Amino acid sequence: MKKGLLILLSGPSGVGKGTVRKQIFKNTDLNLAYSISMTTRKPREGEVDGQDYFFVSEERFEEAIKNEELLEYARFVGNYYGTPKAYVEKLREEGKNVFLEIEVEGAKKVLEEYKEDKGVLSIFLLPPSLRELEKRIRGRRSEPEEIIQERLGKAKREMGLKKNYQFNVLNDNINRSSQEIARIIDLKIKANKVED
Ligand code: 5GP
Repeated sequence: MKKGLLILLSGPSGVGKGTVRKQIFKNTDLNLAYSISMTTRKPREGEVDGQDYFFVSEERFEEAIKNEELLEYARFVGNYYGTPKAYVEKLREEGKNVFLEIEVEGAKKVLEEYKEDKGVLSIFLLPPSLRELEKRIRGRRSEPEEIIQERLGKAKREMGLKKNYQFNVLNDNINRSSQEIARIIDLKIKANKVED
């Protein structure tokens, strides 16, 4: 069986990666599996452990780093976030197209680690403008001002990394951008089959 793709969706905080990802996952033909990350962040209302994230303590996370359980990890606004390695590889071996939705620092590590892997597809999601991004970050209303400022400052720096990705997609409208990404994935799946 052909190994599945590793699909990387990244972009600045607040750009809408999560919403776009949920939309894309409605398309079952793409044979996607979501890579559930580990984080030390506290769950937001409605988030489910083992579904949105594996919510763990700092201690458990640092143990995972030490044991090399993570494909990549990053510290983001005071918390750890990382991708469990074994799960990603297992799913790809089963022919699933594994979808990582992660911030840019971790994505950079994945892109370096997998630079020889033809099964990698990297997509950077762009906000229509920085003003719009600020509105979206504030719209969550779940965080104090200093955290919002930190997320915004980081988002501006993150935008400079878009050139490292195979595709840049503008998130001007959730349905439109999700459709564009689904089409990119579909074409890559077809190209991956032909490469045999
Ligand atoms: P949030 O706290 O809003 O859920 O996530 C903050 C940021 O961390 C988002 O940009 C999200 O995509 C990113 N993120 C989620 N999981 C991971 C991961 O496993 N690794 C890295 N590097 N970033 C992640």
